[in-house]
Amino acid sequence: MEFDFENIKKLLSIQSKEELNELRNLSYNKLTEFVGECVYLRGLIEFSNYCSNDCYYCGIRKGNTTLERYYLTREEILDCAKIALELGYGSIVLQSGENNSEKNINFISEVISEIKEISKSELLPNGLGITLSIGELSYQNYEKLYKAGAHRYLLRIETSNPTLFKKIHPVKQTFERRLECLNYLREIGYQVGTGVMIGIPEQTIDDLTNDILFFKEQDVDMIGMGPFIPHKDTIYCDYYIKKPTALQKNYLLSLKMIAAARLVMKDINIASTTALETIHPSGWEEGLKYGANVIMPNITPFKYRKKYQLYDNKPCSDISPSEQNSLIKSRIEAIGRKICYNEWGDSKHYWQRKEKNILINKD
Ligand code: SAH
Repeated sequence: MEFDFENIKKLLSIQSKEELNELRNLSYNKLTEFVGECVYLRGLIEFSNYCSNDCYYCGIRKGNTTLERYYLTREEILDCAKIALELGYGSIVLQSGENNSEKNINFISEVISEIKEISKSELLPNGLGITLSIGELSYQNYEKLYKAGAHRYLLRIETSNPTLFKKIHPVKQTFERRLECLNYLREIGYQVGTGVMIGIPEQTIDDLTNDILFFKEQDVDMIGMGPFIPHKDTIYCDYYIKKPTALQKNYLLSLKMIAAARLVMKDINIASTTALETIHPSGWEEGLKYGANVIMPNITPFKYRKKYQLYDNKPCSDISPSEQNSLIKSRIEAIGRKICYNEWGDSKHYWQRKEKNILINKD
């Protein structure tokens, strides 16, 4: 079945329990058919909250002067990588606010190379898989980090509606620039991930439908998306007063978005995100049931977690990474899925895309 605007919108508008069950089953079947039941874990390292951007919705935006800023040292990042390795996570995600100074890019590049060096083993001959999520950079910087060893990149478009994008960002942060960056990343050879926030003020079901079509049109390899959650130090601090039912609504809508993305894009990787888990104690499981296949457990040192609050109530638990791993394992097994340890768990779509390109270039 080919999905167009009308039938994607229909999926996102489903309300009844029966239809939701049907949607979940359909999407789950697509998942098992195209990518299998494995769940891949990526150890998330939030290595700095310094940010030169001022996204109106984000708790670590530059304008939030109440926040103490931090930067993990090289040793601290390497220690996190070692934890990921010991726990059998085949990959890590390095995330931070935006800082495209030469000094910072050189630092990240050196850290990536070192992580690659220390993580090569018989189990992982190419070392840990490294995903970056550090915002908009120049072509040269993306390329430098790719050459250093990063091979996936997450850059959310936040919304595919340019007018809405303008409303939630300062003038100097443009929709066109985001698109350009996504193109750079693809051109360089990264596995490219994008995503949106679900429930942004004034966002409509039509916008979300177009978001799914945008993912398809951009032919992305990975998607990370989740509910919009207000942050107290942003202009959206009174969001729940204006929209008292938003929490549950955005949660359910996020699950439907995951299912729709799986049905339309089939063989991509989709994350069951922390924002889902923030709204509901079994948010991760529900995301997986609706078609997601990746989870990103936070392995940032505890003392920094409170300083990386992108939105209110973002979990900053103080259980150790290995306890967290056992918990996640039992939660995932309880829903009949299994974790595939010590694998990169690349997006199948990426390899299909590559193969297609090789064939086209041969012709
Ligand atoms: N600076 C990097 C990565 C950090 S922000 C970047 O811009 O890509 C990572 C993601 O957190 C953002 O893309 C955004 O979608 C999400 N986020 C930020 N504030 C949020 C909020 N209030 N509610 C839900 N998600 C939010």
